[in-house]
Amino acid sequence: MSLIELNKRQDAILQIVKENGPITGEHIAERLGLTRATLRPDLAILTMAGFLDARPRVGYFYAGKKNAVVLTESMLNLKVKDFQASPVVVFDQMTVYDAIIHMFSEDVGTLFVIDRDEILQGVLSRKDLLRSSIGSQDLNKIPVHMIMTRMPNIAYCKNSDTLVDAAKKLIERAIDSMPVVKETEAGVQVIGRVTKTNITRAFISLAETHDL
Ligand code: ADP
Repeated sequence: MSLIELNKRQDAILQIVKENGPITGEHIAERLGLTRATLRPDLAILTMAGFLDARPRVGYFYAGKKNAVVLTESMLNLKVKDFQASPVVVFDQMTVYDAIIHMFSEDVGTLFVIDRDEILQGVLSRKDLLRSSIGSQDLNKIPVHMIMTRMPNIAYCKNSDTLVDAAKKLIERAIDSMPVVKETEAGVQVIGRVTKTNITRAFISLAETHDL
């Protein structure tokens, strides 16, 4: 981003347009006690840089590009590590019945399934558990590895990824959450979780810091 240094007169013009826009060049000049011709270069710079929008016969509007650039930058700076939650994991031999209990007691919508070496094996969503509860199977007899979505089809991210990239993955794969992982020789280890809720929270914090 190139930060443009505005001079005093350009600042004054911006202030006038912010408060009174749409306003003609003529009227801006009048307020500043200057001629329209004197202001022409300043208005051209402010329009070119995107601070102002000009519409013929209507006048100048405040475009606020600077704020938009700042907002975009801070959005791209949001990292998974700053918003991730703790993962809730179960072992692959746990029964579906116990996994349902675990999902309720931990108050999450997705469980990550790991093996004895703590390597990610799969994911269990609310509907995966519901689906296996339809019918007459004994939920105490089915281990979760029978019904989970399994590796290598699991979408995951790293804590250094941007939250925007994580959000894109959630939307593209139509899922509610993803494990945040650390890659090791033996496989991937789960170190966190990023969910639609975390992303909604980040969205709110952006709005708050930018006073939207
Ligand atoms: P629900 O199934 O309760 O609507 P999701 O939309 O998160 O919840 O899950 C949809 C399907 O995608 C489920 O079968 C689930 O196992 C699977 N799934 C969930 N998260 C992931 C993930 N991170 N990677 C791959 N598959 C996933």
